[in-house]
Amino acid sequence: MDCFEAQRRDLADLAARSRARRLAVRTGRDFASNDYLALAGDPALAAAVRAAIDAGVPIGSGGSRLLRGNHAAHERLEAAAARFFGAESALYFSTGYAANAALLSTLPQRGDLIVHDALVHASAHEGIRLGRAEARAAAHNDPDAFEDVIAAWRAASGTGRVWIAVESLYSMDGDRAPLDALAAIADRHDAVLIVDEAHATGVFGPEGRGLAAGLAGRENLITLHTCGKALGCEGALLCGPAVVRDFLVNRGRAFIFSTAPSPLMAAAVEAALGLITAPGRRERLHALIAQAEALLAPAGVQATGSQIVPLVLGEDARTMAVAAALQDRGFDVRGIRPPTVPVGTSRLRISLTLNVTEGDVAALADALGSLA
Ligand code: PMP
Repeated sequence: MDCFEAQRRDLADLAARSRARRLAVRTGRDFASNDYLALAGDPALAAAVRAAIDAGVPIGSGGSRLLRGNHAAHERLEAAAARFFGAESALYFSTGYAANAALLSTLPQRGDLIVHDALVHASAHEGIRLGRAEARAAAHNDPDAFEDVIAAWRAASGTGRVWIAVESLYSMDGDRAPLDALAAIADRHDAVLIVDEAHATGVFGPEGRGLAAGLAGRENLITLHTCGKALGCEGALLCGPAVVRDFLVNRGRAFIFSTAPSPLMAAAVEAALGLITAPGRRERLHALIAQAEALLAPAGVQATGSQIVPLVLGEDARTMAVAAALQDRGFDVRGIRPPTVPVGTSRLRISLTLNVTEGDVAALADALGSLA
């Protein structure tokens, strides 16, 4: 008897459709990570962690934040993050996935509506699925579509609160949300705007405070800043009014029933927030983005004005073949397939980070040109 027959069949089906995944240890030049500012291996960040160890900050938290797991390093980080992102309060989660899941499953109540951009991250969908509110998708980056969804829901006697969930910089397309228009819609409908800044934190906004920095401090704004991308660490900071923090501490199951993140990681994130404010790294990344736009254009790559540069090839098998050919030549470029992106839009997701130089990008452009 094969207890895993269904799973084997599913895996074989994925393979037949060029959708099978496997883990591969990192190798080659980094055009795949979200370590945009190369902070993950930065000596200054390592020194901050060493200093925290020397000061007695433990590696493990030992329990839930609500029990013994709450450490001064968590509280210090949250106070620093609230100040930095201009919010009344912040709450630190182990991952962005957990933060999005907790936020969207807990805050919107039965009878409420979540209107989300059609391209929001899987973790937002997870929260929606776990929660009790209704959810509708709005066409990507189209403020009128959000307005229409809300109007239709109200016309069909929806009476609860509306929550608008978007990303500020889309993880697979590298384009930006029309945040000012969405904030105006939120104001008009007494709605709450939730902005996932995962890919913008550290890269965009004054001092790297994100693309929603101009909206900071609003009563109807919640931002999510993941710490595993430009901050070079891990975890996520949910920023917003104090009542949001209090509510998640009391009602957020992913927060309550989970071991607190490492206090040492909290200390690392706090140090990373200090490092991104210093001039240099962000400016160098933006210079690299401008150079890459010029270098990659002849290979048919369209500029996004961001560090996320997709080259949509469409078909799954072709995308994976081109990615494999680039990997063979020493470029760590990954193919992205459904369900991560919509069917028919499989792509190479070229990620620009300070782990590579202009010369590396020029070499990648040559390789792409010869493969396309
Ligand atoms: N939101 C977005 C937009 C993301 O791209 C990601 C990570 N890929 C997450 C949330 C989840 O964050 P984490 O990796 O910290 O779980």
